[in-house]
Amino acid sequence: MSKKMKRETLCIQAGWKPKKGEPRIVPIIQSTTFKYETSEQMARLFDLEDSGYFYTRLQNPTNDAVASKIAELEGGVAGMLTSSGQAASFFAILNICGAGDHFISAASIYGGTYNLFAVTMKKLGIDCTFVDQDAPAEDIAREFRPNTKLLFGETLSNPGVAVLDIEKFAAIAHNNGVPLVIDNTFATPINCRPFEWGADIVIHSTTKYMDGHAAAVGGCIVDSGNFDWDAQAAKYPGLCEPDPSYHGLTYTKAFGKGAFITKATAQLMRDLGSIQSPQNAFLLNIGLETLHLRMPRHCQNALAVAQWLRTNGKVAWVNYPELEGNKYYDLAKKYLPNGSCGVLSFGLKGGRDVATRFMDSLELAAIVTHVADARTSVLHPASHTHRQLSDEQLLEAGVAPDLIRLSVGIENIDDIIADLSQALDRCLVL
Ligand SMILES: *Cc1c(COP(=O)(O)O)cnc(C)c1O
Repeated sequence: MSKKMKRETLCIQAGWKPKKGEPRIVPIIQSTTFKYETSEQMARLFDLEDSGYFYTRLQNPTNDAVASKIAELEGGVAGMLTSSGQAASFFAILNICGAGDHFISAASIYGGTYNLFAVTMKKLGIDCTFVDQDAPAEDIAREFRPNTKLLFGETLSNPGVAVLDIEKFAAIAHNNGVPLVIDNTFATPINCRPFEWGADIVIHSTTKYMDGHAAAVGGCIVDSGNFDWDAQAAKYPGLCEPDPSYHGLTYTKAFGKGAFITKATAQLMRDLGSIQSPQNAFLLNIGLETLHLRMPRHCQNALAVAQWLRTNGKVAWVNYPELEGNKYYDLAKKYLPNGSCGVLSFGLKGGRDVATRFMDSLELAAIVTHVADARTSVLHPASHTHRQLSDEQLLEAGVAPDLIRLSVGIENIDDIIADLSQALDRCLVL
């Protein structure tokens, strides 16, 4: 579809173009495998000489329709769905780095990603250095080594909602000859398209706003097609040199701008198999159709809640990038002019214990690990998602021990505030 179409239209129309007599909406192709007429036809698929489906561990038509919708929304050239957001970050890194390599990440990132980078990647021989994303560019650039292969950050960090200066990060990455990989989960392409600011690869946990209904875990990788791997060929042998597992095929030569996603599909999905189920891709697609309607409501409700909390005497602090005076206010206006996301964080006077009592007193807002769906929900990261981290790592990840993460849903704002209000009244009288 033409890149000129607006995001609202792409949410509805992109990715699936039924022909005569085909289903109007993306069908669930619930089949492990696909039939061919001759042995030769199948052989050509295995050699990547023809494109086509043969086994759902690698590719499935339902997934591809939905991945291409997300790729169009982001303004990229190709996309792939993964079984989870974690699989998307893992594959995006592993498609570039191998044992002995190094990459740099903002420290203010999702706790699961932090563990993946700090612990599991290390076991695979891939080293990560965490940097303060607000540090001057020179300080971040100083962390580059000869074996550094990429720079990583989140548009809006989970749960600290720190806004990344994407242009600054892109300049640092490109000055050092590496791509910038951005986790755009919280902003979604409705509120920010990182490729327009110089990012090269975007990943998503589609589990969050994209699905939007807390129905299906999933992830997505989108490539902008902009990074020139061949200009740094010695650094990226996996993309720029012959792949012995494909009879010496070279991805950049054979697939041009499609090299990154083709390699991730043909090599990583083949060997590691973390594809999204077609059923989940179908649910994700239904979520995507209303993403452009839901995001503005999430942002509007979250801003109203943030403003209300700030005037409440029982609240110690409120963090939401669109609140005037917030550290990230100017960056939010630049990168997220139409709104950031529905997630905010705050602390109560009285600290950790009061936080727990407050959460137990909520009636509408539910205590769940999940974030960024239609229902208002709440979490205490220090006791839940981030409990593996030490107090020092918590602070490095931008998570205060008393931080309550509130994911503001799309219910009526009066009901959300009434619930917060009654819980604040109850938790302080004990
Ligand atoms: C949830 C989340 C992830 C991980 O995604 P899953 O779908 O839970 O695997 C990665 N990044 C961010 C910003 C997230 O919020």
